[in-house]
Amino acid sequence: MEKRSAIVVLTGAGISAESGVPTFRGPGGLWEGHRVEEVCTPQALGADPALVHRFYDLRRAALLDVVPNPAHEALARLDREWRGELLIVTQNVDDLHERAGARRLLHMHGELRSALCAACGARMPHPGPLPPGSRCPGCGAAALRPDIVFFGEFPYAMERIEAALAACDLFVSIGTSGAVYPAAGFVAKAAAYGARTLELNLEPSAGSRRFDETRLGPASRLVPEWVEALLQSTQSSPMSR
Ligand code: NAD
Repeated sequence: MEKRSAIVVLTGAGISAESGVPTFRGPGGLWEGHRVEEVCTPQALGADPALVHRFYDLRRAALLDVVPNPAHEALARLDREWRGELLIVTQNVDDLHERAGARRLLHMHGELRSALCAACGARMPHPGPLPPGSRCPGCGAAALRPDIVFFGEFPYAMERIEAALAACDLFVSIGTSGAVYPAAGFVAKAAAYGARTLELNLEPSAGSRRFDETRLGPASRLVPEWVEALLQSTQSSPMSR
């Protein structure tokens, strides 16, 4: 097998927007009058668990009404056909990447269709509603919560992500505003290790100036175009694509 380069792809809410999953910072950024940054916190979970659980129950149920779009499908194709290293890191808590078929995928902010036991730390698939006080099937504590990394909590798998960023030749950021750390810092980290950096976004983001190149447009067009060009020229480095 010829040598292929290593790629890290970071995705944000923008890649799912055309599937009908709302972003945080676009229109509709408020939920029942609350800023989402105020609902998705450990403090809110402690103060008003019913509110926080209802927020996530509604989002989990809404997944049944959406399907992957051509951007998710293009990344799944990249996963199938790219013979070099690949890690797709998503900030999204929806399941559209895996429903499109992506496997080399990591949810750094957790998953809507998963529950976390606050007592023993177990994570488990949980596709339905999650009432406050639900019991963990493992330890029995009434401590199940949405398996979501709240604002102020530490994202999942950071060691693995940092290692991939240090080893990649190309870092591609898709549909993310560059406002939420640590993900917003990935571009600087990858660049410091020598990777070329590419942003695909609807509009320039807070971090656009940190990228070698920014392409503007809807993810459903930009991502399939980028993947097609990359796979077409397997003989050369992805850095020129
Ligand atoms: P964000 O809402 O802050 O920013 C969305 C970005 O996507 C913007 O830069 C916008 O220009 C871009 N965008 C919008 N429509 C697009 C399109 N059609 N094509 C390409 N780009 C488009 O989202 P974020 O940066 O991901 O950060 C917010 C946090 O919210 C993340 O932690 C994420 O976990 C969470 N979130 C997740 C979901 C989801 O799971 N689908 C939805 C909303 C928020």
